[in-house]
Amino acid sequence: MTKRKPPPKINADTKAFWDGCRERELRFQKCEDCGHLRHPPAFLCPHCLSSRTVMVKASGRGRVYSYAVYHVAFDPAFQEDLPYIVALVDLEEGPRIVSNLVGCDPGAAACGMAVEVAWDDGEEGLCLPKFRPAGA
Ligand SMILES: [Zn+2]
Repeated sequence: MTKRKPPPKINADTKAFWDGCRERELRFQKCEDCGHLRHPPAFLCPHCLSSRTVMVKASGRGRVYSYAVYHVAFDPAFQEDLPYIVALVDLEEGPRIVSNLVGCDPGAAACGMAVEVAWDDGEEGLCLPKFRPAGA
């Protein structure tokens, strides 16, 4: 039997992000006072400490800032995914997101490669934003 993967912890600050994912939209917080786009979601803007925030839709396009290929599953639920790629993706709007690079041979992954969001229907109605090589 396959072990269940741990779901993301959703709280008042992150709910709007995960609601967007269910609708297959990447949404980020934008500070209404200074315009800073941020991720992960937080109550205050890290630049000006304003709590005035709106959600904006991101394109889903970005570039790999860095990545690691996992050959060991530190949680048994990920054993069948090995080897898998964990990547830091710089979205074209600015925020950096931690996710998985999918549809890509681990040997072909590279820093700077163009990627686009690839939605992964998870358990319990969750939809996880993962990334694949752009145009793949
Ligand atoms: Zn701000």
